[in-house]
Amino acid sequence: GHRAAPPAREVASVCPYCGVGCQVGFRVRDGAIEEVAGRDGPSNQGRLCVKGRFGFDYLRHPDRLTRPLVRIAPKDPADCLDPRRARAKFREAGWEEAMALAAEGLARIRDGHGPDALAGFGSAKGSNEEAYLFQKLVRTGFGTNNVDHCTRLCHAASVAALLEGIGSGAVTAPFMAAAEAEVILVIGARPTENHPVAATFLKEAAARGATLVTLDPRGSALDRFATEVVRFAPGRDVPMLNAMLHTVITEGLYDRQYVAAHTEDFEALRDHVAALTPEAMAPLCGVPAEQLRRVARRFARARTAMIFWGMGISQSTHGTDNTRCLIALALLCGQVGRPGTGLHPLRGQNNVQGASDAGLIPMMFPDYHRTTDDAARGHLERLWGATLDPKPGLTVVEIMHAMARGEIRGMYVMGENPAMSDPDVAHARAALARLDHLVVQDLFLTETAALADVVLPASAWPEKDGTVTNTNRQVQMGRAAVPMPEGVRQDLDLITEMANRLGLRWDYRHPRDVFPEMAAAMPSLASITWERLEREGSVTYPCPAPDAAGQAIVFGDRFPTASGRGRFVPAGLRDPDEMPDERYPFVLTTGRQLEHWHTGTMTRRAGALDALEPEPTASLAPVDLRRLGLAPGQRLRLETRRGAIELAAREDPALPQGLVFVPFAYREAAANLLTNPQLDPYGKIPEFKYCAVRVEPVRET
Ligand code: SF4
Repeated sequence: GHRAAPPAREVASVCPYCGVGCQVGFRVRDGAIEEVAGRDGPSNQGRLCVKGRFGFDYLRHPDRLTRPLVRIAPKDPADCLDPRRARAKFREAGWEEAMALAAEGLARIRDGHGPDALAGFGSAKGSNEEAYLFQKLVRTGFGTNNVDHCTRLCHAASVAALLEGIGSGAVTAPFMAAAEAEVILVIGARPTENHPVAATFLKEAAARGATLVTLDPRGSALDRFATEVVRFAPGRDVPMLNAMLHTVITEGLYDRQYVAAHTEDFEALRDHVAALTPEAMAPLCGVPAEQLRRVARRFARARTAMIFWGMGISQSTHGTDNTRCLIALALLCGQVGRPGTGLHPLRGQNNVQGASDAGLIPMMFPDYHRTTDDAARGHLERLWGATLDPKPGLTVVEIMHAMARGEIRGMYVMGENPAMSDPDVAHARAALARLDHLVVQDLFLTETAALADVVLPASAWPEKDGTVTNTNRQVQMGRAAVPMPEGVRQDLDLITEMANRLGLRWDYRHPRDVFPEMAAAMPSLASITWERLEREGSVTYPCPAPDAAGQAIVFGDRFPTASGRGRFVPAGLRDPDEMPDERYPFVLTTGRQLEHWHTGTMTRRAGALDALEPEPTASLAPVDLRRLGLAPGQRLRLETRRGAIELAAREDPALPQGLVFVPFAYREAAANLLTNPQLDPYGKIPEFKYCAVRVEPVRET
């Protein structure tokens, strides 16, 4: 007869996709995730977006790696395009053989060519404990500071400007603080797609009467809720924002008391923007002078105001300058440190905040202590029982260049996919293929793994315990819900074994063994323990006491800078690095879509998500499509100075004339074959949001 199915067990964890950090309940039956429910977490209050609700069947996808692979045939960058051809160049191996090969190759390079011939990319999708151990492995086992991760491609410019201006790279207030804001600016961000649950808090704020201003070259779904929509010319954030700063200062709308008590270098900013009037800047940024004035006045006159920003601000050769302007606007008007105020860079990956905090950054140890800071280095040397190099390491794109020159010969890449995510990816693929020894640890045979010497199968987020830190500085507990496929091992075990094979003596069995040491290296985690996170699920840092709530809003009285003051840093006007010309008359911008996450490794293997967005498209304004004689769905060719791709045309009235948008999740038409690798001089972030491109219809033959 029939037996009632046993009830699903619910495991409390966190969504592995974006930096919102929604708390999820994985409903598990027979060792598989049957359903995902939103839990009442501080950043989601029961809500989830389509990725968090439906994006988990990648766990059991037939492509999932369950055995280590070792290379048996030569590398070829073209293998990135053809997974089957790539797979045929490996054979399966046992763990002992694969780990021995992986570690010996790295040790040989370290001992033969010196520590700086090695580098590591850790992952913003792993736990804090994994990130901490990974950077410790690179700094103490490899002996170099050449360790970085995708923050370099994401908010590196924001963090550079925030550290310089207010002494801290994290948000000053959570996005839930929008509930108390009178005015909310959202610039260079598309939260309805990339931080969907955070977007619901912004929509609610607008519905209760907040003035919501969206500023972007592209229209977005949030515009519908906005009081005012500012559409500015791509790459022209600095002139637009300088005109607003000019308005606030010359009209005397700034908070004199706040500026006097809490800031420095006001005169430098005032003198810099004196000539940058709205009238002078309007032709450059494409926004009417009257609108520039109106938005500046709205912001300055608000009792409480917040600024949210995303990749549109940071992924630019003037990303640090863009952020400097936003910081200046908030400081001028005293809009930091009180309820309803704040600066909030919306962090992308689920754990990019935590991975950065934990030290996956080449010029900084955990908690942003510079490698050149003798006191901080001494503290870590004692804690780790190791000698550390004071010389800052190379960043993601710098590492690619050093590989291409043959200076970096070996790499350990965990859960990152530079063969898809880096700018000018043909160059990146050729550089990766040139390595003497590449170890890749991932769930699938990614484009990067296709160029590896040894591939180590990784564990997936719902298969492991660990903490992650979201965009709001909330450290949250994730728990294993389902078993790993047979033969797969925990990432933490693999990092630990690699360390031991490289001569270190580590004994970490579980993330709870790592957390206390990590907290000893990171003052930000004071008063937060593994046990407390097990009990409470989420604790915001900084936190004053083990029994106190964390501080959601920071810097009410002083900034963590040398002087305790926030600093104004003027931003000069510069053109984007590569301007359109006769041969490449359009501007290309790249980004994400609601349904796909970054290089698509997980979401393109999630059935529901891939069904919603199955193929790469290039979006253009209707008028541009008409001029090119293209109908939606027809194929077009995009070409830049670095490469060309073919994909389907999509009509998008939210795009201005002359701008093309391509998402970067698609292997078969990789947007990053086109992008410009030129870097922001401070944040070392590439210009993903602007390069010159030619658009042509593909004539069917
Ligand atoms: Fe996951 Fe972000 Fe969606 Fe929340 S908003 S469910 S964290 S992808």
